[in-house]
Amino acid sequence: MNKNTINKNNFIRKIIKNDLNKKKYSKIKTRFAPEPNGYLHLGHVKSLYINYNIAKDFNGTCNVRFDDSNPSKIKKKYIKSIKKDIKWLGFKINNIYYTSNYFLKIYNYAIELIKKKLAYVDELNSKEIKKYRGTLKTIGKDSPYRNRSINDNLKLFKEMKEGKFKEGQMCLRAKINMLSPIILMRDPILYRIKYKEHIKTANEWCIYPMYDFSHCISDALEKITHSICTLEFIDNKNLYNWILKNITIENRPKQYEFSRLNIEYNIMSKRYINKLIKKKIITKWNDPRILTITGLRKRGYTPDSIIDFCSRIGVTKQNNIIEMSLLENCIRNDLNKNSPRTMAIINPIKIILENIPNKYEEQLIINNHPINKNMGKRKIYFNKEIYIDKYDFKDKNNNKYNHPVVGNKIRLKNAYNIIIKFIIKNKKGEIKKIICTCKHKKNQDYKYIKIIHWVSVLHSIPAKFYLYEKLFNKINPLKKNKLTNNVNKKSLIIKNGFVEESLKTAKIGNKYQFEREGYYCLDKIENKSNNLIFNLITNLNNRYKRI
Ligand code: ATP
Ligand code: MG
Repeated sequence: MNKNTINKNNFIRKIIKNDLNKKKYSKIKTRFAPEPNGYLHLGHVKSLYINYNIAKDFNGTCNVRFDDSNPSKIKKKYIKSIKKDIKWLGFKINNIYYTSNYFLKIYNYAIELIKKKLAYVDELNSKEIKKYRGTLKTIGKDSPYRNRSINDNLKLFKEMKEGKFKEGQMCLRAKINMLSPIILMRDPILYRIKYKEHIKTANEWCIYPMYDFSHCISDALEKITHSICTLEFIDNKNLYNWILKNITIENRPKQYEFSRLNIEYNIMSKRYINKLIKKKIITKWNDPRILTITGLRKRGYTPDSIIDFCSRIGVTKQNNIIEMSLLENCIRNDLNKNSPRTMAIINPIKIILENIPNKYEEQLIINNHPINKNMGKRKIYFNKEIYIDKYDFKDKNNNKYNHPVVGNKIRLKNAYNIIIKFIIKNKKGEIKKIICTCKHKKNQDYKYIKIIHWVSVLHSIPAKFYLYEKLFNKINPLKKNKLTNNVNKKSLIIKNGFVEESLKTAKIGNKYQFEREGYYCLDKIENKSNNLIFNLITNLNNRYKRI
């Protein structure tokens, strides 16, 4: 399906169009509400993309609201990084809010519920609350504290706020229905005590609202029209509507759910990413194997490719797993157009051109891009000794990929034809060098079996190549087995090779197509050795793999 059709006709947009036609709202208002307890990942971007573009296309606005209601989990550095990633992706957000902006208002709404006999201070501890709540198969039981008087509740809640009790000693609960088939509606907790300094409000509060309580109120206060979230919040919608129905508030947003983004052979939840870091399966939040924005950036993904991906995945209510190749195709499309070509040898093997004099040197001027002439030209050198890739040569005739063998003629890309004469092996039988003859004339009629890439030994610089593979062996690594049992032990292979000298001036973050290899991004330059370290972004196509 055409990507625009997918996106312009999704079910949420249909609802919005309908609402606008019926003049239910004069202006659409959406929001993206990340909890700053980790870095932004591709799933979040799906959510932001949906909210942002709905607002844009229907002439509305989209807020970003940091859900900072739980001081134990949130950190300033996460807020900073989320802001940075949103900007890097190209979203232009004017309104940034924090749930903590509304703490006083939310507190007053809790008091309103108490006064309406719709909330009470409970003294059961968390274990008891759980036990009293029942299960899907058994009904819940009322807390012995459920029927306190309004005045007692008001007094205790005030004392909770004043810090008169210990953490866990009391909490405020909504008085809904302990017999409800929806467990979430069995008197959910609205406020709990936490003696933890908050990144915004410091020690002003020692009671904090639960997500379900603060979220709907924040939406309503911001006059959000369509509160779009993922499917796991479907039960929470009952509570969302219950709270807004029972407080005095002008605006009552409607919640709509879509399916989460899942990508095969990977995970996205912050909780699991944290686990992988703790178990040292990945390095940090910016490990290029993980689908955080900082990881994708380090890997070499561009904002355009990520946005293109979001525009292609569609918005539905069906849970599904997206193929990794869709994301890879998006970066290929971008880099095919926008990255310069260059040659790099990942598994070097030396070729000696026997008929070229020792000191011979020729400069060849070649295009940086086959189509886009604006990318200019560069100089490469041709000498007696060159590196080619081990995988472009076989010392046996019966290789199924038709690799060149002794006696074959090969064309060196951007240069000359050579004939493989003989090979020199070490005692272990490994190939050390290949001796070739160079047909040092460009001859159109000359028949060669393959064009291969190469670099001059004299004019190359050492480089390390970080070759990434999928992080897990299972399409859905969270299914059945323990996550850590499904880890692909070969998700990173490091190779030492060479790149053209022209990359000496390359800057961190530069992306290249290494001809016949794939797309690579310069990740860092090692201090001591000046070694360039490149990350494999993706191979040249889905089938092709050289390792
Ligand atoms: P995580 O599981 O990674 O902790 P979360 O849902 O707890 O995710 P929040 O910071 O609360 O993360 O999410 C902000 C918004 O991003 C929410 O609306 C949430 O539904 C959405 N979101 C999170 N993960 C995905 C995903 N995989 N696909 C689509 N939307 C997502
Ligand atoms: Mg969360």
